[in-house]
Amino acid sequence: MAMILDGRKVASAINEDLAGRVAALRERNTFPRLEIIRVGNRKDDLYYERSLEKVCGGLGIAVETVVLDEATWQERLPGEVEAVNRNDLIHGCMVFRPLPDEALELEVCRRLDPEKDVDGMTFLSLAGVFAGIEMGHPPCTAEACIEILDHYGIPMKGKKATVVGRSRVVGKPVSAMLQNRDATVTMCHSKTTDLVRACRDADILVVAIGKADAIDGRFLSPGQTVVDVGINVDESGKTRGDVVFDAACRVAYAVTPVPGGVGSVTTAILCRHIVEAAERRSKS
Ligand code: NAP
Repeated sequence: MAMILDGRKVASAINEDLAGRVAALRERNTFPRLEIIRVGNRKDDLYYERSLEKVCGGLGIAVETVVLDEATWQERLPGEVEAVNRNDLIHGCMVFRPLPDEALELEVCRRLDPEKDVDGMTFLSLAGVFAGIEMGHPPCTAEACIEILDHYGIPMKGKKATVVGRSRVVGKPVSAMLQNRDATVTMCHSKTTDLVRACRDADILVVAIGKADAIDGRFLSPGQTVVDVGINVDESGKTRGDVVFDAACRVAYAVTPVPGGVGSVTTAILCRHIVEAAERRSKS
């Protein structure tokens, strides 16, 4: 039976550390604040917003949301981003994605101040990840994968890692972060010809494809650590990962559950980025 890499425990450890750091900031009259920019009222966005308000609120991080309506958002969005950049009281900004217009989303990636880019969406933040230097903030989900491995003492140095999925949000940054930690990384995607072999060969397997239960026992081998990033909600409302959890429990050395794995850590990482941004500001 594989070891379960419990994301909730990892998130608790991060949040415990953050509580003290927020208290120290408040003593210096710095009040960490996140601004959310939301277009319309998509159900997923509203759910995420409520969960951010709850977690941030519990840590003493203020959250404010600017809601742009679907009729005027394209004219208003660039101005809102500039207003965030200018406002010294806002430490972090998160723009809910995907936006209905990809060109404008890329415009935000160019314009948002990387210091306030707590969700790791700007090109400068991504450049920092790929160059292996501190610049902006890494994408939260990619960092959450690394944080889980670190928390449970899973070594990356010299290990073979396979990442399935090459999105800008998860697959590409997590592969760069694994390389920065001295893993030898194989990147896979929908055109990869022998996915089973690439997955079975890995010591660390990270799966971020968005297809429920796509990775079954044939893709797994004994001794592996499996990080399942997928969040897929089935017809009955049940949340499932990209990996068949029972199969991973039978075969692997360690596995993240869904829910209660990477997703739980992602929000804690976002809070850490807000606190780091506030700390950098209070020192400057
Ligand atoms: P995405 O942008 O849709 O990218 C999916 C990637 O998977 C693409 O690179 C695609 O390849 C690849 N792919 C799709 N089907 C495949 C297959 N059968 N075999 C191999 N590769 C395949 O998705 P994403 O935004 O990265 O999200 C991936 C999953 O993670 C989703 O379930 C999402 O809900 C979840 N997620 C979780 C968190 C969290 O906090 N836990 C955060 C973000 C996302 P091509 O490039 O060739 O098309």
